[in-house]
Amino acid sequence: MADFDLFVIGACSGGGRAARVSAAYGARVAIAEEYKVGGTCVIRGCVPKKLLVYGAHFAEDLDDAAMFGWDVPTKKFDWQVLRDNVLAEVGRLEGAYTETLTNHDVTIFKERAELTGPNSARLASGKEVSADRILIATGATPAMPAIDGIEHAISSNETFHLERLPKRIVIAGGGYIANEFAGIFHQFGSHVTLVNRTDVILRQYDQQIVDRLIQISLRKGIDFKFNATIEKIEKRESGSLHVTMKGCDDFETDQILIATGRKPNTAGFGLAEVGVEMGDNCQIKVDADNRTSVASIFAVGDVTDRVQLTPVAIREGQAFADTFFGKTPHQVDYSCIPSAVFSHPPIASVGMTEGQARNKLGQVRTYTSDFRPMKNVLAGRNERSLYKLVVDGSTDQIVGVHMIGPDAPEILQAAAVAVRGKLKKADFDATVALHPTMAEELVLMR
Ligand code: FAD
Repeated sequence: MADFDLFVIGACSGGGRAARVSAAYGARVAIAEEYKVGGTCVIRGCVPKKLLVYGAHFAEDLDDAAMFGWDVPTKKFDWQVLRDNVLAEVGRLEGAYTETLTNHDVTIFKERAELTGPNSARLASGKEVSADRILIATGATPAMPAIDGIEHAISSNETFHLERLPKRIVIAGGGYIANEFAGIFHQFGSHVTLVNRTDVILRQYDQQIVDRLIQISLRKGIDFKFNATIEKIEKRESGSLHVTMKGCDDFETDQILIATGRKPNTAGFGLAEVGVEMGDNCQIKVDADNRTSVASIFAVGDVTDRVQLTPVAIREGQAFADTFFGKTPHQVDYSCIPSAVFSHPPIASVGMTEGQARNKLGQVRTYTSDFRPMKNVLAGRNERSLYKLVVDGSTDQIVGVHMIGPDAPEILQAAAVAVRGKLKKADFDATVALHPTMAEELVLMR
């Protein structure tokens, strides 16, 4: 008999959910984690990032406070205080996640694991483990380009531990992580330059919404360099960094953050040797039940490079546990996944963009509301929100909702239920507005 029914590599969103739920179904489960229990999301992703976003918001809130009658005499930001408080919260969460697993009788090995066969693995301590099924949930890691001087740049991993706030920062990338950190550092007072190798950022979001973010960011003072790439980084004696660029002038800066994508974490722990098939981006290939090319080995989350988001990894882990240990087989529905960019202001989106709908559907109608939130009006902040509904012209069904503005992600979650439920524009029109809110714009667009 094998040591365990299930051995999970990676104590994270996908792996943690699969381990806990499988154990609750009665399986004998062990999990290996080489860094910290909680995975990317809790330790160096969504959670600490969102806490920094909250911290960053105070910059504008404190400025706006005067018009609401508050006298805030001095405004001074201390990076070390926020950083240490965020890291302490992450430490608390790591403890809570560990406790949840141990409360479910999951055996935790806080060490690296390597596959040695279709049903076996070796831990860093040398201990051999066997299991009927093995689940790979090793996530993804920042992809760092092979350029001269890359050792002077950081990835998002190091950002949460910076000794001091840089006066100037160059952020490379056009995805959500690059744009979120651009907003965060700008609010903290750093001068931010975002460089991207094409002239398109946030590719999967609606163009009109992205254009609004660029417009607002430029007005705030964030610099964008499009069609530009970093060729070389040199450290000067003064400690500053000289960045040799292709496509624009060179920079002197204090920090360089590379956020140009995340690569599935599949190298160096025996996957290929055991015969697990991988795709062009080094991702583990799986079927709809998360099974790899080796019958006893499964994979969920970012390592499979389907949709690199926490709630998706969690759903995949849950589906795996339900299917193989809970006798309630089911597969994840990838059709209507909401997502957000926690920029300043944030973007949120679900369903098809206008461009996607026009390519896919015969007739498309769009409705937009371009408005200045009431709070911004009183504060004298000239920043407008934009909401957009994309409607299938032949059925009246809402196929996409796209928003930029304060609290857009909080509002969009409910709208995502409507899109998934295939509600029509007429249903939105028939819904009474909740006044005064920004969200009421969703049911007032005509
Ligand atoms: P991960 O959470 O990546 O965890 C993999 C784990 O495996 C790690 O803990 C790692 O140490 C461990 N591991 C790897 N190899 C081994 C080995 N050989 N032995 C033992 N352990 C191993 N998603 C959202 O939905 N919303 C957000 O706002 C958001 N913000 C993000 C911000 C940043 C800066 C980053 C980097 C990511 C963000 N994400 C966000 C993405 C989200 O974090 C990932 O989609 C999610 O964590 C994927 O979970 P996972 O289960 O695939 O694995």
